[in-house]
Amino acid sequence: MAYESVRIKNHINGEWLDESNGQYAPLRNPSTGQVIGEVPLSSQQTSSAAVAAAAEAYPGWSALPLPKRMDYLFKMYQAMKDNQEDLAISIAVDQAKHIAEARGEVGRVIEILQMACTIPALIQGETVQGIANNINGRLIKAPLGVFCGVAPFNFPALVFGWFIPFAIGTGNTFVYKPSTESPLFMQKMMQLLVDIGLPQGVVNIVHGDRQVVEAWYEDENVAGVCLVGSTPTAKAIAEGCGRSGKKTMLLGGAKNFLVAMEDAPMDLMIENILMSGYGSAGQRCLAVSNIAVVAEIYDEFVERLLEASKNLTLGDAMDPDVFMGPLISSHAKEKVMEYIRIGEESGATLALDGRNPTLPAANQEGYFVGPTVFTDVTPCMQIAREEIFGPVLSVMKVGCIDGALRMIRNHEMGNGAVIFTQNSYYTEKFINEADVGMIGVNVGICAPHPYLPFGGIKGSLVGNNKVQGKDAIDFFTQNKVATVRVVNPKGSNTQAKPADSNVRSCVAS
Ligand code: NAD
Repeated sequence: MAYESVRIKNHINGEWLDESNGQYAPLRNPSTGQVIGEVPLSSQQTSSAAVAAAAEAYPGWSALPLPKRMDYLFKMYQAMKDNQEDLAISIAVDQAKHIAEARGEVGRVIEILQMACTIPALIQGETVQGIANNINGRLIKAPLGVFCGVAPFNFPALVFGWFIPFAIGTGNTFVYKPSTESPLFMQKMMQLLVDIGLPQGVVNIVHGDRQVVEAWYEDENVAGVCLVGSTPTAKAIAEGCGRSGKKTMLLGGAKNFLVAMEDAPMDLMIENILMSGYGSAGQRCLAVSNIAVVAEIYDEFVERLLEASKNLTLGDAMDPDVFMGPLISSHAKEKVMEYIRIGEESGATLALDGRNPTLPAANQEGYFVGPTVFTDVTPCMQIAREEIFGPVLSVMKVGCIDGALRMIRNHEMGNGAVIFTQNSYYTEKFINEADVGMIGVNVGICAPHPYLPFGGIKGSLVGNNKVQGKDAIDFFTQNKVATVRVVNPKGSNTQAKPADSNVRSCVAS
C-alpha cells in the first residue's frame, strides 16, 4: 500500500511548527521499508520553548475549576471514540502494529480515559477534625507544574493514555516526546486535542531524540519526567533527574516467563502463546519470551508449539488476514537475527528458524523475522537473560513449580509472568511467589485493567511509581497538609489549656 508522505511537526503553545534547526529523520513504513515522511530531530532550544509554553499555561490551567478540566477529558474520550479507526491506522502504518492489535491499543486508551474521568473521586484529600482544640488537619493533593513524558515506539497510544489525561486532569501541564519511529498517532491525537478546544500550552509535543529529554534535566520549570522505554534509558533519565531533584516515573524493559504445569489447558495455552509471543512481532513489554515447562508435558508441548508456529503468515500490518507484521526497523531486525545466532552458538536447539520467512512480494523490503523457537534453553544463556524484543521463544524444562519460580526470582527483570494450570495450589503459590509486578493465570498477557496500576519490579521499574490507577494520581500530585486553627473573629474562641500538650506543640511550631 502506498502512503502520502507526511512532514511531522512539533506542537508548541497552540501552534504547529516546523523544527527551526532543519534536522529531520526519515520515517519509514516497517511493512515495506518505504519512506513515508520525516520527523523533526528537535533542538534543546525547541524542547525548552515547549517547557516555557507549558509553564506559562500552568497558572491558568491549574486554577480552572475541576469540573471544567474534566469537561476536556470527557471531550477527549469522545473524540477518541469518534476517531478510533483513524487513530488505529496511524499506529498500523508507522509502527506496523497489526491493524487488529492497533484497534485494541486505541480501545484500551479509551478505557484508560474512562478511568481518568474519575479523577474528582480519586483526587480527594483527607481531613481530620479536632486534632486539638479548634484545630483541624487537612491533606490536599495539589498539582506540581510542568511534567514531561517520553514514549517508546511500541505503544504510542497507550503511553499517551498513561501520562497525559492523568497529568492534565490533576492540574499540571505537559510536554510530550513521542518516539521518532512512531510519531503519527500523536500527530493525529494532538489535532483532536486542538479540535476539542484544549487551551494552548496545556499539552505540547516535541519530536526528536535524547537531546529533547536532556534539555529538561536542569530546567527549573520541569517538576517531573516520566518514561516508558528500555531499562538503560530509564536509568539515564533517573540519573539526569536525580541531579536536579525532579520526580520520576520510569517503566523499563522486560523478559517475561510463561510457566506450563502438567495440568495446563494445552489448546488455550498454545493459542495464548501465539498471541503473546508473536503478536506485535514480539515487541511488547508483556510479550512471553521464556517458557518454563514441567518435564511431564515438555515433549508434547514442544511438538504442539512448533506445529502451531510454523505456518503463521507474515505480511503488511494493514492486512487483516496476516497473523504477524514486521519489526520496527532494519536495526531491530539485525538485533533479533544476532540473538538467533547467539542462541545457536550457546548450544540451544534452534527448533524453528524465523530468518528468511516467506513474504508477499510487496513486503520483501520490510523488516520481518518469522516465529522462532529455541528448545533446550538454560536460564543462564544470553537468549534467556536479555530482552530480545522480537518473535523468539526460549523453551526450558523444569522439574516442578519451584524450579520455575526460582528462574523467575533469579532473573534481573520483573515485569510480568503467567502460569497455565487448573490447580488452585499452583495458582496461589504462583501469585504469592512469582517475583514480578504483573501476574497472570491462564492468560497470555497479564496487563492490568486501567483501574489498577501497571508496572513491573526489579530491573523493569526504576524507582517506585507505576502508571494507571491511583498510582498515577499519586505521581502527578503532591501531598500538602494544612493545620488550621479556627479563630472566632469576635474573640470568644476557647483558649488552649496549658495542660494540653498537643496544643502546646502546635502553638510552638
Ligand atoms: P528506548 O529506551 O530505546 O526509547 C524510549 C524513548 O526514550 C524514545 O522516545 C527515545 O527517543 C528515548 N531515549 C532513548 N535513549 C534516551 C536517553 N539516553 N535519554 C533520554 N531519552 C532517550 O525504547 P524503545 O526501543 O523505543 O522501546 C522498547 C523498550 O521499551 C523495550 O525495552 C520495552 O520493554 C520497553 N517498554 C516497556 C514497557 C513497560 O510497561 N515496562 C512498555 C512498553 C515498552
